Amino acid sequence: MKTALITGAAGFLGSHLCDKLLAKGMSVIGMDNLITGSMSNIAHLEDNSNFRFVNHDVCEHIVIEGDLDYILHFASPASPIDYLKIPIQTLKVGALGTHNVLGLARAKNARVLVASTSEIYGDPLVHPQTEDYFGNVNTIGPRGVYDEAKRYLESITMAYHRYHGVDTRIIRIFNTYGPRMRLNDGRVIPAFMGQVLRGEDLTVFGDGSQTRSFCFVEDEIEGIYRLLMSDYHLPVNIGNPDEITILDFAQEIIALTGTDQKIVYKELPKNDPLQRKPDITKAKEILGWEPKVGRAEGMQRTYDYFKSLSQEGLNKMEYRDFTSFKT
Ligand code: UDP
Repeated sequence: MKTALITGAAGFLGSHLCDKLLAKGMSVIGMDNLITGSMSNIAHLEDNSNFRFVNHDVCEHIVIEGDLDYILHFASPASPIDYLKIPIQTLKVGALGTHNVLGLARAKNARVLVASTSEIYGDPLVHPQTEDYFGNVNTIGPRGVYDEAKRYLESITMAYHRYHGVDTRIIRIFNTYGPRMRLNDGRVIPAFMGQVLRGEDLTVFGDGSQTRSFCFVEDEIEGIYRLLMSDYHLPVNIGNPDEITILDFAQEIIALTGTDQKIVYKELPKNDPLQRKPDITKAKEILGWEPKVGRAEGMQRTYDYFKSLSQEGLNKMEYRDFTSFKT
């Protein structure tokens, strides 16, 4: 039986990855420090004898007894609101956390896949974004803490691959959605759906002409798994190229939910990328992967999940108080 360590295991993608690798017959160690993750995402694994949870901050030295075959590094705040609130922790987990993970991979002779992001392209001047585009990032802007941490993650991962011969994979994840997103994480899908469910108007930032391309979590996880099992070391975009403006998207959610709520406009956050769409030619060619779940189906499944949350959960929209968290 192969053993995998997943960092960020109590997060949105991390928890789905735990399910995927357990379903593939692996033994899984889930690691998280629960700053942005939630035990409720992995509560269903409590009695699974192939799963073990370790509460640990990957910025500190990581100790794992025994063999490891795979490490998947998914620990990081990932929502613009979160990384505005905990900027130093965001930088540290991308830099120190990734360094520790790579050191562990080297010591255990394990294959390691690290989670990068479309944010490394910044506010892109090339559209759609191909992996060979170097990006347009404001290093000192509010999003710079996440973007630069992830750019460093890619650099140190390639250095460990080239210098130490570590068996590495780099995925660039584009906007992904689905069950287990945090309703209060500030990202556009939980934001709009939470607003509908609480009877509030939908807040479109700017004039809503900025675009995103949303990938359903099931497709994203399949792409991650295929990349892990491939022998490809350079970054690969995994996302859904079906691009939509945020205004059209808000209108789709109004139609999907049948709400009477209206759209209200708020200021566009600084350095909010104006367009984003993955070029997935590489993923198709190398992994034989492309997304299968369309937005209509994926959004319905996501809305059903949010609807199933208790009223208490819906009302808990205050962002977490991170002030006691030391960086
Ligand atoms: N957005 C919005 N209203 C909200 C939250 C987000 O219009 O209540 C916009 C945001 O300005 C961005 C897009 O939706 O253009 C996606 O934002 P998100 O925070 O989901 O992630 P990003 O893709 O910017 O990292």
